[in-house]
Amino acid sequence: MNTINQTLKQYYGYTSFRPGQQGIIEAIMSGRDVMGIMPTGGGKSLCYQIPAVEMDGLTLVISPLISLMKDQVDGLLSMGIRAGFLTSQLSLDQQNEIIRQAIRSEIDLLYVSPERLENDYFLSRLSQMNINLIAVDEAHCISQWGHDFRPSYQAIPKVRAYCSTYPPFAAFTATATQKVREDIAEKLELDDPYAFTASFDRPNLTFSIVHPKKKQQKLLDLLKDKESSVIYCNTRKNVERVHAFLKKKGYGVGYYHAGLTPEERTRYQEDFLYDKTPIIVATNAFGMGIDKSNVRRVIHYNMPLDMESYYQEAGRAGRDGAPAEAVLFYSSQDIITNNLLIEQGNHPHAKKNLNTIISYCKTGQCLRKIILDYFDETPQFETCDNCSNCNGETELVDVTKACQKILSCIYRMNQQYGMGLVTDVLRGKDNARIRAQGFDDLSTYGIMKESADQEIKDIIALMVSEQFLHVGGDQYPILKFTEKSVDLLHARSQLLMTRHQKAERTNTKQAAV
Ligand code: ADP
Repeated sequence: MNTINQTLKQYYGYTSFRPGQQGIIEAIMSGRDVMGIMPTGGGKSLCYQIPAVEMDGLTLVISPLISLMKDQVDGLLSMGIRAGFLTSQLSLDQQNEIIRQAIRSEIDLLYVSPERLENDYFLSRLSQMNINLIAVDEAHCISQWGHDFRPSYQAIPKVRAYCSTYPPFAAFTATATQKVREDIAEKLELDDPYAFTASFDRPNLTFSIVHPKKKQQKLLDLLKDKESSVIYCNTRKNVERVHAFLKKKGYGVGYYHAGLTPEERTRYQEDFLYDKTPIIVATNAFGMGIDKSNVRRVIHYNMPLDMESYYQEAGRAGRDGAPAEAVLFYSSQDIITNNLLIEQGNHPHAKKNLNTIISYCKTGQCLRKIILDYFDETPQFETCDNCSNCNGETELVDVTKACQKILSCIYRMNQQYGMGLVTDVLRGKDNARIRAQGFDDLSTYGIMKESADQEIKDIIALMVSEQFLHVGGDQYPILKFTEKSVDLLHARSQLLMTRHQKAERTNTKQAAV
């Protein structure tokens, strides 16, 4: 047995490497720059920890979240690996002691935040340390193309010039689009890096899209087994609402968002990690680097803004390799809200990203295939038999006629109103606002009486995501025509909608029990 295998066995208790790990470790130890791209839970940490143990000197690990450094270092110490971390939460004496240990090579790994690299004192001490490797965790944070851009990551490339040893860089990320990959290599100035991209397929995860009539009821159905679950919501307010709802229903549940105090966040996070409360409701502030292996389910209560963050969050389920599920709830309201958010924001790539995730929600194709295609991987299958589409829970329906009715109504309402009022007029509702504006005199008043509100809203959302309608307005989302609208109005285009048929039926059945 060679020595890295021995180290794997001795410290981690594992008998074999996962695909890619050995190649990365050997490349690092030969002094090459490395780029490791693996999905969340793929086993990135060990790729730099083993070289750190094997090689003389100190490995500097740049990690974005202070709260997790302590966990990582505690984990290493408990395995018998000498490691330390530097954060501003430590006293000056403690910080000086860690720096002394690093200089004397009494530790093998030193975890620091990217912000620490903007500290002149720290930089000046680097030359006294025998640094053998700089490992950059969550390396996509350096790229503005990614979804987690962190300005402080820009301080990383120049760090190696401060080291007397000119160590290699090992960059790790779970973000895999070609563009971000190239950007990481360029920004970090990697020199002919050894690159390994693991498959992003997570066969043990069942992906499903549901379009519940009542999200709260669906949530209760899913959580019946009381297994460890993460529920992601789009806003702090929704987090608190869903948390309060589940608490009232008697669930052991915590919550997490950036508006809590650091103490509260730590408490809720630890209660979840140690299974005191098996469920956590959170914004996307929760989870980067969370290593809880027995999460059985990740639920997105609201539609996320892009595919990459979705997959990274969903990937927190089933890290132990046992069956787990990733369920995405979406509603027409989410599509409208997200479109408006992006309209008001100034991120140039956001619209395209949003459309990708919307297509994912609406597709009738294999969900796993769509995900892998997105990550530039060629799947070896047409159907995975382990997602809600392959399991036959959807059907396609032609909604062109309904679109024509909706468009004529919006046109007659002078393109100045949102989804709610347009739907009310189409349904022929009788209320003061409608009467005051004279909408009850329009020829489109009540022409969709037979359809459910939800059905109309779904079609409107679909038209928005297919750019047959545009969401404008400063404060309230207003539906307006696009250059494509007229084609649909005159049936020169056709629009098909995926209906999440079986999921809804099961839902009703369960609700009735
Ligand atoms: P990542 O940082 O890529 O999200 P981690 O490094 O936290 O993933 O690894 C995820 C889990 O997989 C951890 O519990 C880790 O101990 C385990 N793991 C990593 N490599 C192996 C291996 N070769 N054999 C078995 N388990 C492994």
